[in-house]
Amino acid sequence: MKSISIVGGGQSGLQLGIGLLQKGYDVKIIQDRTGEEIASGRVLSSQCQFDAALQHERDLGLNYWEDECPPVEGISFVVPNPEGPGKAIDWSARLDDKAQSVDQRVKMPRWLEEFEQLGGKLEIASADVAKLELEAKGADLVIVASGKGEIGKLFERDADRSTFDAPQRALALTYVHGMRPREPFSAVNFNLIPGVGEYFVFPALTTTGPCEIMVFEGIPGGPMDCWKDVKTPAEHLAKSKEILNTFLPWEADRCHNVELTDENGILAGRFPPTIRKPVGTLPSGAKVMGLGDAVCLNDPITGQGANNAAKAAAVYLDAILAHGDRPFDEAWMSATFERFWDYAQWVVRWTNMMLLPPPPFVLDIMGSAQVLPGLAQRIANGFDDPRDFFPWFADSNAAQDYLTSLQAA
Ligand SMILES: Cc1cc2nc3c(=O)[nH]c(=O)nc-3n(C[C@H](O)[C@H](O)[C@H](O)COP(=O)(O)OP(=O)(O)OC[C@H]3O[C@@H](n4cnc5c(N)ncnc54)[C@H](O)[C@@H]3O)c2cc1C
Repeated sequence: MKSISIVGGGQSGLQLGIGLLQKGYDVKIIQDRTGEEIASGRVLSSQCQFDAALQHERDLGLNYWEDECPPVEGISFVVPNPEGPGKAIDWSARLDDKAQSVDQRVKMPRWLEEFEQLGGKLEIASADVAKLELEAKGADLVIVASGKGEIGKLFERDADRSTFDAPQRALALTYVHGMRPREPFSAVNFNLIPGVGEYFVFPALTTTGPCEIMVFEGIPGGPMDCWKDVKTPAEHLAKSKEILNTFLPWEADRCHNVELTDENGILAGRFPPTIRKPVGTLPSGAKVMGLGDAVCLNDPITGQGANNAAKAAAVYLDAILAHGDRPFDEAWMSATFERFWDYAQWVVRWTNMMLLPPPPFVLDIMGSAQVLPGLAQRIANGFDDPRDFFPWFADSNAAQDYLTSLQAA
């Protein structure tokens, strides 16, 4: 049976590794942190996944928290009134199927355990190029699924597919208990504050049980790009509440009794969204293949990274199984990534659009969703499959035609 080495035991690496083990492949994962270290470390993500991504996990029997994790039942969208108190745009719609967010500090340690129980070889080490060379000698295929890890830089940045070369948002996460639940249904509450940034919040499952995750996306240099001088978890929580008090009083109103889930339930950082070429060449000439964030890194503004990672892992799994005993050469690696890119290019395009000031026709769409429930529902469900946003979310003529047809109906 073929042997596959994967660098990185995160969403994509573990999902692929476990899928391959279930089919009898010989799989090794090289992962730089143990399950215990992940569980007791800092939060990594807000990791809200929609139905299609969750289904890939169900297909492999990895949905251990399906009942325990609070569901995300819809999407709400709010733009505050720029001229005074209140809201300029405000709508919500239910998702056809629930979304869920299981803290990666809960998920990855359990998946690592499952990986080993199925007979996978787990090596705890930080892989460098020399390590990749060693793996490439012994394995039929080496996959690098290292997320934002430095080793991913061995894949050349794809200038044609990368829109930005600098971070577009100052990011922060705050995991809390005690937030008043949204009514009448749970949702990703997405608030867009023009010129300032975005704030979204939704229920999740963390190491201490159900919680809410606050996600702040501050435009660089603006008032929500404010984490530099925040030194302690208590200051991080206070800053989170201050932002809500200043810009989003209806969200602040849910937060009178919030406290951090734990001292590690906070994160602040920034990175440039980057697409890389999927095949890397080692000094020896051996080829390795990138997976997940390592080669397709999006800003979290649309909450797509873990969804993409799950979908990419599913595409790679199918492609590896279908390839049988043939060698995994460069042509196969490129073709496999292109199969994923057929889907991911739309996610990347939509995500990058959301990072720029919305053009008038997008504001028109988002405003019209207040009076067109079918439109609101379509936008909400687009988070599960962003291909559905095209062409009408990206082109003013297509938007106008679509809105006219909805109004006529
Ligand atoms: C603030 C924030 C909020 C987010 N919110 C969402 C959201 O709501 N929904 C969503 O879908 N996505 C979200 N994401 C993105 C999502 O978390 C990632 O896209 C997803 O985890 C990527 O999976 P991956 O397998 O590519 O990498 P990861 O899950 O990052 O896994 C990579 C693994 O490789 C390990 N590693 C790195 N380098 C090495 C090395 N040299 N050797 C060995 N191991 C190595 C790392 O420690 C890690 O365990 C968010 C991200 C951020 C930063």
